[in-house]
Amino acid sequence: MGTDLHRLVEGRSLFVGGVELPSDRGALGHSDGDVAMHALTDALLGAVGLGDIGELFPDNDPTLAGIESSTMLAEAVERLTSAGWSIENVDVVVELERPKVRPHRDDMRRTMAAVLGVDVERVFVKAKTGEGLPPIGTGEAIAASAVALVARVAP
Ligand code: MG
Repeated sequence: MGTDLHRLVEGRSLFVGGVELPSDRGALGHSDGDVAMHALTDALLGAVGLGDIGELFPDNDPTLAGIESSTMLAEAVERLTSAGWSIENVDVVVELERPKVRPHRDDMRRTMAAVLGVDVERVFVKAKTGEGLPPIGTGEAIAASAVALVARVAP
């Protein structure tokens, strides 16, 4: 499993699950701040004992500034498959007050499934709001959780 949270600030684009959402605020971060992909990257790396996103992509490495989250997720998939594992299915929960995630859900599923190299049926995205409570509900942050099931395909 993996989780992530980013502060929302004005003047940045909001990318979630590889999809740009219509918003006047975006996730502050070293990368594009895609919490769904970050949580998923951590879930996959952890499931196969290959570390975490911070180890692979240190946020104090200037050569990684502005790196796309899909690049990090793809690298995790590459390491996972190279180590003899396959991805069975994944599930992601996005916590965001606005805009609504639901209209973009299937775009996110398709985009992440393509990076993972699996059928879209194996990828799901659910969305929650923060009930007006901080930091999600007050629009100060976006968060995501992800869980991944993997299988051993090589000894
Ligand atoms: Mg992150």
